[in-house]
Amino acid sequence: MKLICIGRNYTAHIEELEHATPEAPILFLKPDTAILLKKQPFFIPDFSENVQHEVEVLVKINRVGKYIDKKFAHKYYSEIGLGIDFTARDVQEALKAKGLPWETAKAFDGAAVVGKWMPKSEITDCNSLNFSLQKNGTVVQRGNTSQMIYKIDALIEYISKYFTLKIGDIIFTGTPAGVGRVEANDKLKGFIEDKELFSITVK
Ligand code: MG
Repeated sequence: MKLICIGRNYTAHIEELEHATPEAPILFLKPDTAILLKKQPFFIPDFSENVQHEVEVLVKINRVGKYIDKKFAHKYYSEIGLGIDFTARDVQEALKAKGLPWETAKAFDGAAVVGKWMPKSEITDCNSLNFSLQKNGTVVQRGNTSQMIYKIDALIEYISKYFTLKIGDIIFTGTPAGVGRVEANDKLKGFIEDKELFSITVK
């Protein structure tokens, strides 16, 4: 399985990092080895001084598809989740400055937190979901899927032009504003509405 991640999908986050708004979704991949194992702490890698949290709504693909039309995209997922796209920001900035790919900043072991899943049947509208990240008990990131520049179904249409989507693939739909550095002993908890979907410790 693969993790397909979307960059710059929330205007307020684009502004905080002083990026331009993309003309099309920005895609990158993480391998399955990036998934943080259940109940394990996140270890800050020794190659970065500035690992940042990016809380993101996740979509789990439940059937194989290629060239999926936006109109039918809703048939390709039945669960929504929440996770973190951990980013070694210092590494990423150095790579970006040289026009190089981001993998060492984004795809390292543990860089993808995948929380519990919620069945779509329990969700009234996937395009109007509040989600948040708490760090040590304080909300540091808050978003609503209605603020996504490219909504879930449009993302599935776009991604499936390039990559065949397979059962179990996970889409990271982009982070809202409020990204920040993590430090040893931080506790990160993620919520969709008032449901806690993950809780991890940083080491
Ligand atoms: Mg991200």
